[in-house]
Amino acid sequence: MKGRIAEIFDSVQGEGIYLGEKQIFVRFFGCNLSCRFCDTKQYRFTEYEPEELFGEIALYSGDEIHSISFTGGEPLLQHEFLREILMLTRANGYKNYLETNGTLAGELERVIKYVDIVSMDVKLPSSSGMGLLWGLHERFLKAASQKEVFIKTIICGVTPEEELRDALALIKKINPAAIVILQPNSLDDYGLLKKKLDSFQEICFNEGITACIIPQMHIIMGVR
Ligand code: SF4
Repeated sequence: MKGRIAEIFDSVQGEGIYLGEKQIFVRFFGCNLSCRFCDTKQYRFTEYEPEELFGEIALYSGDEIHSISFTGGEPLLQHEFLREILMLTRANGYKNYLETNGTLAGELERVIKYVDIVSMDVKLPSSSGMGLLWGLHERFLKAASQKEVFIKTIICGVTPEEELRDALALIKKINPAAIVILQPNSLDDYGLLKKKLDSFQEICFNEGITACIIPQMHIIMGVR
């Protein structure tokens, strides 16, 4: 069985609650969505057998590595291959961190046993341009909540408060302990977004949800 991998590299995590942790990144090729703000353009891939990919990953190993970030694209599109590589990395003592768009719940169920941390997106329709994904996100969060999970949501200048409230209703119903990251869209002017982010954070707190405002630090720092 072969997986299609766009790139493998080590760097520091630039998003979410594990910001700054050193990770090995395995970027899977292909995605089932096409978000308006997507900054992951993929044009080519290399095919690997699971053992071959593990060999590449092992080249980056070291005590300072927090975990392996399986990212994309959408890694769960290749869930059978993903399961194989997660089993290998787990068996060799690595922690598995899955970055996902939060829409493929059935596929997540097939691999969740081997995942330690799930970083899932909740796509707000106005900022992603993807229409309503609430049903998919609800099923996904249910499955992800078997493990440690946090939620990233991109906030744009055009994001209305009602979309945040819809997302919070879903999170409160399934897993109110999940931390929400309000991530300013990197293409928007942060100065102009600041007021909206502050008010959205307050709405989260009033709804009993812990929310952090965290920009994409790897873009600010100029690292991969
Ligand atoms: S889910 Fe992520 S990789 Fe896929 S289109 Fe959206 S932003 Fe891009």
